Amino acid sequence: MNRRNIKIAPSILSADFANLEKEIKRVENAGADLLHVDVMDGHFVPNITIGPPVISAISGKTKLPLDVHLMIEDPDPCIDSYIDAGASFLSVHAEACRHLQRTLSSIAARKVKPGVALNPATPLDAIKYVLKDVSFVLLMTVNPGFGGQKFIPAVLEKIRELSSKIAAEGLDIDIEVDGGINEETAQKVIDAGANILVAGYAIYRGDSRKVIRALRNAGD
Ligand code: ZN
Repeated sequence: MNRRNIKIAPSILSADFANLEKEIKRVENAGADLLHVDVMDGHFVPNITIGPPVISAISGKTKLPLDVHLMIEDPDPCIDSYIDAGASFLSVHAEACRHLQRTLSSIAARKVKPGVALNPATPLDAIKYVLKDVSFVLLMTVNPGFGGQKFIPAVLEKIRELSSKIAAEGLDIDIEVDGGINEETAQKVIDAGANILVAGYAIYRGDSRKVIRALRNAGD
């Protein structure tokens, strides 16, 4: 398998929210490539996190591109506000969008990288007809809602299937994984074809620099 450039995206979900600026600098200095921001609405997932005002404040404090993951029902009315807040990558859940292709096109029209996210139980068929509309696919490796959960191994097959499909169709699409990523699972997801690794708990609860380096090199 042709290993693509691995990117590490620390999720601030596991950061100390009372010291967000310091926590962001910490992963920036530790070699992160992107900053993953988990937005939860208390409807699509059973938890509430942050919205555009906090993201806008964060974007002024970091040089890292913001990878904003919307775990919200019917995101269409607020796409623009997340982009205005500073998102460089913006993903929506296929399960939460009634007109998915329109939502993805509206993100691309604003020159932001559009991504589509799938929960562990959602089959790849759900995005079969929108692959040409995305820059990346985010495959959830836990059920979204909380940090620090255990990796679901059944998703490995989904990563492999998607990776083959992308290669067979000659598409340029990144595969991002999110949930339960640590040094052990990183090797498995990279081997399966993922190239953007989100990790919160592992990076924030350990030596950030060491963990980021280990995750990046896990597939070697
Ligand atoms: Zn996420």
